[in-house]
Amino acid sequence: MSQVVPQTADNTDQAATLDTRLKQSLTQYWGFDSFRPRQREAIQCVMSDRDSVVIFPTGGGKSLCYQVPATCRKGVAIVVSPLISLMKDQVDSLVANGVNAAFLNSTLSRADENSILEKIRANQIDLVYMAPERLLSAHTLQMLAKVEIAFFAIDEAHCVSQWGHDFRPEYRQLSVLKQKFPGTSVHAYTATATPRVRQDIADQLGLNSPEIIIGSMYRSNLNYQIHRRSGGTSQLIEALDSHRDESGIVYCISRKKVESTCSMLQSLGYEALPYHAGLDANSRQQNQEAFLQDKAKIIVATVAFGMGIDKSNVRFVAHAEMPKSLEAYQQESGRAGRDGLPATCWLFYNGADLMTWKRIVSDSAPAERDAAVNSLNQMTDFCSGIVCRHVALASHFGENLDLQNCEACDVCLGDVEQVADPLVLSQKIISCVYRVDQRFGADYVAQVLTGSNDKRILQKGHDKVSTYGLLASESKKSVRDWIEQLISQKFLVKSGEYNVVTITETGSQVLRGETTPVLRQAADATATQQAPKTQVENWAGVDRDLFAKLSDSRTKLAADRNVPTHVIFSDASIKDMARKRPSTPAAFRLILGVSQQKQTDFGNDFLDLIQSHCRDNNVATDVKPAQPIKQPPKKLTAGAVESFKYFDNNMDIAEVAEKTGKATSTVSGYLEQYIAHNSITDPSRWMEASAATAITAAIDKVGIGPLKPVFVELNEKVSYDQIRVAMACRRNS
Ligand code: ADP
Ligand code: MG
Repeated sequence: MSQVVPQTADNTDQAATLDTRLKQSLTQYWGFDSFRPRQREAIQCVMSDRDSVVIFPTGGGKSLCYQVPATCRKGVAIVVSPLISLMKDQVDSLVANGVNAAFLNSTLSRADENSILEKIRANQIDLVYMAPERLLSAHTLQMLAKVEIAFFAIDEAHCVSQWGHDFRPEYRQLSVLKQKFPGTSVHAYTATATPRVRQDIADQLGLNSPEIIIGSMYRSNLNYQIHRRSGGTSQLIEALDSHRDESGIVYCISRKKVESTCSMLQSLGYEALPYHAGLDANSRQQNQEAFLQDKAKIIVATVAFGMGIDKSNVRFVAHAEMPKSLEAYQQESGRAGRDGLPATCWLFYNGADLMTWKRIVSDSAPAERDAAVNSLNQMTDFCSGIVCRHVALASHFGENLDLQNCEACDVCLGDVEQVADPLVLSQKIISCVYRVDQRFGADYVAQVLTGSNDKRILQKGHDKVSTYGLLASESKKSVRDWIEQLISQKFLVKSGEYNVVTITETGSQVLRGETTPVLRQAADATATQQAPKTQVENWAGVDRDLFAKLSDSRTKLAADRNVPTHVIFSDASIKDMARKRPSTPAAFRLILGVSQQKQTDFGNDFLDLIQSHCRDNNVATDVKPAQPIKQPPKKLTAGAVESFKYFDNNMDIAEVAEKTGKATSTVSGYLEQYIAHNSITDPSRWMEASAATAITAAIDKVGIGPLKPVFVELNEKVSYDQIRVAMACRRNS
């Protein structure tokens, strides 16, 4: 970070150059402005040959963590990927951005394969994707021994672990890499990893005291809507109608259900196609491709669909039935909104789903079955739970999310009404469990409470207990729902083969009035809700007609090239175009996700389209993003306050990072706050005066806001850190 300090040390100088190179690569090949917070740390591991295990949620941006370094390092990066479709998707995207990437797999002709091998030997290729079997074949290992390997990246690394949800024995063999290439670093990437799986990945791959980098599981662009299923498929239809003409996945448990749901949707005029393991490979392939190219908007599928689907503009994932575990749910629902734009995840569950799953797992070995039933119970608790869905999911993966109101789930959006007196209601229910000697299931307890005349109840004499008919004015369904809520909050617990409900220690506290559960009215999926905040903001200023035109043009280009639409442009890019409506190539280059290569390949076509649309409809072009309003100063964190002392003593970012043990990216954020806090207007304390002048002039030309326009204005030659510092100073003047 030498450029932000007066006195320059050699190693900080190197760090600065490196940072600039990484940023340049990001802008040139991906057209992005900045790295996401944890990406920077993950990239630093790759650049410094430190083994690493990186856990970001789906859509968290794992690929860039190895792709950007691959473009900046000498030698070829070897990426291990489990599926041919996944490799093709990634390589298509890279090539569309002008990166030298290829894959080695059985789909290649002999001639193509030879030409790729030749390029690897000639050091003309930055990344090569392959499956573990291919990598570990004697032939490939021999070839690799003779070339310069930059590093190994293992994508979908949970496949290494038999504790994960998608174990692949071939991945186990990858431990060979550390033996055969002891000097080469290995980096593992996955979206789902409980602590046990995380450790297993590091152990199985034989990693050398790896850095473990865990991103937050929180995906604020996803709106979780979880409702008890009632009224057949009407909830599903209503849900799909709110995303008409957008791309999405509908998950069902069985093949039969996939077929019937898909036919039903087709008969209603939806462009839906089925996908399950019972279809022949050809149909599966065709349906998947139609979906990826936006020719079919909806894919109705079993869990067989999804792994390796990197489609970025999936706007909804609807579970027509309950998935089998929270791991599966996180994985499947996580396929929505990879591009970071708002997306909806519906789940319509029902007691019947649990029975279906239990039937499916009943044939497995006892240990496996118990584990499966345990997962199912957790899933059921989650469904009927009443805490924020984002918080509950994160908590399952060991993360403590500090969110007051996510504004993006059925619980926080407030369509769930709390009951009037939760303590008394809970006491009635729990004491009924006690009165029937804690020997019956939830259904039975609900029957007793609602005063059912069921033969069994009369036989057992439970019509004589004091709690019989205590909730006779409520429906059995509501009572049943409340029991589930008490279970999900651990006041009651279900156990054994018959799911007998018993009282926990905290349940007894409720009886004594020492603690009060939260109970909500049974949720109704059709109740009106507030619109999630992200959804509203995201379309602000976007010309929707233009968006549709650009999107059509993208679909055509994708079909011509036989690639998924997101390889051409993501929804986020198209939205940015339809909002800013650039009229010149220079303005177009500033659109999110416009790399140099895409500028060359598609710039003119898209510019023409934008221009003619704006002319015909009398719409303004070159709309500047709204000037950011000066934010009131945020409350400073303890870390920031600590760093301020050091900045006062003229230390630079690298030194402060060293002193505080924080990442340089974090400290650079502190410096921004420091500048704001002390109303500093002159950046030359952190850089040469000439650089300060040039950057400030560029900022004045393109405006205060994102950093990328300044970077481009200065021919991509100054570092982002310098721009950030200068920008912070400019805000103060
Ligand atoms: P993952 O493999 O973790 O599921 P991807 O690597 O496929 O996620 O990235 C998800 C999406 O986020 C992609 O559309 C990608 O282009 C985008 N993305 C990643 N990093 C950035 C960034 N720094 N700035 C903007 N978009 C990004
Ligand atoms: Mg990925």
